Amino acid sequence: MMDTSKKVARIERALEALEPFETDCILCPRECRVDRRKVKAGVCQSGSEAALSCALLHYGEEPVLSGLRDCAAGDHGEGRNRRGSGTIFFTGCNLKCLFCQNYQISWLAQGRTVSHEELAAFMLSLQRQGAYNINLVSPTHLVVPILKALKIAYAEGLAIPLVYNSNGYEKIDVVERLAGIIDIYLPDLKYRSPQVSKKYSGAADYFGRASLAIQEMFVQQPDLVLDENDIARQGLIIRHLILPGQTEDSLAVLDWIAGNFPRSISLSLMSQYRPCFRAPEDIQRPLSADEYQAVVLKAKKLGFENLFIQPEVFRTDDHLMPDFNRPEPFRWKLKK
Ligand code: SF4
Repeated sequence: MMDTSKKVARIERALEALEPFETDCILCPRECRVDRRKVKAGVCQSGSEAALSCALLHYGEEPVLSGLRDCAAGDHGEGRNRRGSGTIFFTGCNLKCLFCQNYQISWLAQGRTVSHEELAAFMLSLQRQGAYNINLVSPTHLVVPILKALKIAYAEGLAIPLVYNSNGYEKIDVVERLAGIIDIYLPDLKYRSPQVSKKYSGAADYFGRASLAIQEMFVQQPDLVLDENDIARQGLIIRHLILPGQTEDSLAVLDWIAGNFPRSISLSLMSQYRPCFRAPEDIQRPLSADEYQAVVLKAKKLGFENLFIQPEVFRTDDHLMPDFNRPEPFRWKLKK
């Protein structure tokens, strides 16, 4: 990880460039052109301060982030690798997929506004609890207040890697400003087809935007670097959630990744889809085992060397489905 004084200098430069965007907001591809200091009228429904639902230790991310091997519902293992990913769930979203499992916070905007100092305090608290990293979930629309909070947190001793856990719907010039600040990029690449991305996320340009953003992320963090306990220190992991009935689009996503990155790229194939919120009728069912296996098989045939494949229990059990109305949104059952 870059030393924190260099990070702070990068943050200051990024803020100089990005902060003015908020008064006529063009921070993401939606380009709503609203004054975020006055109204929450953009697609993300967000003002100029961060709002969040919760900050917690998360045990269901990829093992290199959460520190758990052989995850299973109701049994998250014991021993040295169980400290969790220090995850902050931000309110609002710039993409808003109809099937979002986090719809309570992404669509319904549940959560509370926090000052930069409070957000920094959440980060430092997660570090004190032993988190391996600070995992920013849906940071795109809140990149400015996040950077302001990071400046405070680094001054007060934040020293664990920073994970940018994004839906992938990003502007490349914003991602370029994050060089030297983000340690681990964790973007989705949700769709290849403009028709599919328009139907489920109202963004026909999703692939064009996400593919460019991910290529820039790869330039910044090409290699997944692990420590002696197999915990990520830096790198890029591309996530792809397979949707029921949409395996053709998933296969096209894999073809594109294979054609544009080395086979050593880290790729996480997710089976945990559940129909949530406004999921259209054609995706009103969980993914089948056959659909998931077809995509995994294709990834193996293409020769990807660093695949994260979810155990069967992730497809069949609801332990990864959050309810942000509960004090503990996930149903971890950790052994004491
Ligand atoms: S960050 Fe929000 S307000 Fe700004 S362009 Fe994106 S969706 Fe619109």
